[in-house]
Amino acid sequence: MATDIPHQTTSETTAGGELVRFEKVTKRFGATTVLDRLDFTVSQGKHVTLIGPSGSGKTTILRLLMTLLTPDDGRILVDGQPLDAEVRKKIGMVFQQFNLFPNMRVLRNVTEAPVHVLGLSKDEAVERAKGLLEMVGLGGKLDAYPTQLSGGQQQRVAIARALAMRPQVLLLDEVTSALDPELVAGVLDVLRDIARSTDITMLCVTHEMNFARDISDRVLMFDEGRVIESGPPEQIFGAPEHERTREFLSAVH
Ligand code: ADP
Repeated sequence: MATDIPHQTTSETTAGGELVRFEKVTKRFGATTVLDRLDFTVSQGKHVTLIGPSGSGKTTILRLLMTLLTPDDGRILVDGQPLDAEVRKKIGMVFQQFNLFPNMRVLRNVTEAPVHVLGLSKDEAVERAKGLLEMVGLGGKLDAYPTQLSGGQQQRVAIARALAMRPQVLLLDEVTSALDPELVAGVLDVLRDIARSTDITMLCVTHEMNFARDISDRVLMFDEGRVIESGPPEQIFGAPEHERTREFLSAVH
């Protein structure tokens, strides 16, 4: 597989340092406080996984980063800048439900945003897309429509599509949870390869604990909108300190 996925460079001030910062971020839905003065940072090139029970606020964090939601309080910085529509372009996301354009062939799904959002020439976009589709094992499916592909293949197109924008941060929201069990491994293998062979920063929500253990530099355990425990995967999975973490891990295993 190809190993080189260049991406937008980080500003001098934060190179190698902090890329994402949540500062006392609070998010409420009606009377429910989903995130409660949340603080965390993700450094350039690191892979951080968010785990925790359903409803603990993990997806809300990704949706805030995509500017699909806005915080009620606190602030979010990406590469040292307050998150807005422009800064948001540094972030790519792969969704649970793939969200491919159903009326476009695979190749066009991947070239569309680089041409229309980044202003790449069609030739450049096609070259980039072909390389990425080859990398995710779909070099032979350029002319297929999404409905002609398995869920696992569609999700691999979605990964290529996100990478085609050369994001600095890749968000992965339970990307295998809509897949038939036999298709999960192929998608996780592609992501493992990307994690291992590129320096892209990843923020990942997953229930696949083996995958989290393999790719993460740091794991954050959430409960009721707060990080109750964080550390390297060996610590969180091998010797969790918090009772809630132990309960959660024994329930998902
Ligand atoms: P997780 O990803 O950890 O399962 P979520 O971030 O999806 O958790 O959700 C956290 C809480 O916020 C849940 O109680 C959920 O029902 C609630 N929630 C999420 N989105 C909305 C929304 N758009 N409107 C109202 N409540 C929401």
